[in-house]
Amino acid sequence: MKRIQRAAGVIVGSAVGDALGGPFEFGPQGAFSARFPAPGAGDEMCGGGGWDPGEATDDTQMAILVAESLLERGGLDLPDVFRFQRWAASDPKDIGVQTEDVLTNGMPWDLAAAIHFQVNQRAAGNGSLMRASASAVHFAAAGQEATMDAARRIAALTHGDRAAWEGTAIFHELIRVTFEDTDPLTALPDILTLVHPDHRGRYATVLAPDWHPDQATEFNGSVWPCLGSAVWALRTTTSFEDAMRAAIDLGGDTDTVAAVTGGLAGAYYGMAAIPARWTQPLHVPLPGFDGRVLRLAPCTPPRRGLWMRQVWQPA
Ligand SMILES: [Mg+2]
Repeated sequence: MKRIQRAAGVIVGSAVGDALGGPFEFGPQGAFSARFPAPGAGDEMCGGGGWDPGEATDDTQMAILVAESLLERGGLDLPDVFRFQRWAASDPKDIGVQTEDVLTNGMPWDLAAAIHFQVNQRAAGNGSLMRASASAVHFAAAGQEATMDAARRIAALTHGDRAAWEGTAIFHELIRVTFEDTDPLTALPDILTLVHPDHRGRYATVLAPDWHPDQATEFNGSVWPCLGSAVWALRTTTSFEDAMRAAIDLGGDTDTVAAVTGGLAGAYYGMAAIPARWTQPLHVPLPGFDGRVLRLAPCTPPRRGLWMRQVWQPA
């Protein structure tokens, strides 16, 4: 498969998962397949819980903020990526509790997350993992060390706990190896050796072949079970659609688990595996950025090098 197919699959797959999962957030297990017993049985981009059909939530909104910063600045400019603050101040429909605390505490970009972590001692939410699709695509070509380093630094803007950095770095590396036509699941043991030793054990547990989301010791709004559940959904299904259904059926933080799953499955199966009935209604509001609402460009997948501007366009 062409790399560009995989790249577009990450960007669009993650957004699709986010929009599919949003209406089921904090719901019970099995709610999605109870409502849609078979793929395509009804309009799965149903909206609800305050979301319009096809509306992407904070996961995708923040991923696009990262993407636009990378494109405008020609690379990683961390103070600029902290444009997150401007978005958070513009009353987005949803924002993670921890992310909101950090982005509204009035501290500068290089202190806000660290001080929050020092005070609260808890910062291992999935909020940096959820927004990593665009950065994972952008940095994949730069190699293993560069993509994992960028993941950690972008994560640290909002998450003081290294657990969140490492989870985001694993996601970046899973995307990179998939672009090289390596099976991400067989690459996991090698990727774990690249994880900071203090955090390797917990990731080894949730990424093990026999781990099931029912064994999670935290709510899936935490980074470990969120990443573990996404990898489980990819491992135990055989199509993009089924991976989405498995992820959302886990309940809990469904938009984010499905966004992470959608990124991995989008890389694995490629853009062409994502059903048009899911991409057609997809749209992403960007509060704080001129009231823009982005939709998928009709010509996806885009040409190499233009992936971001050609994937999303103003509605
Ligand atoms: Mg969300």
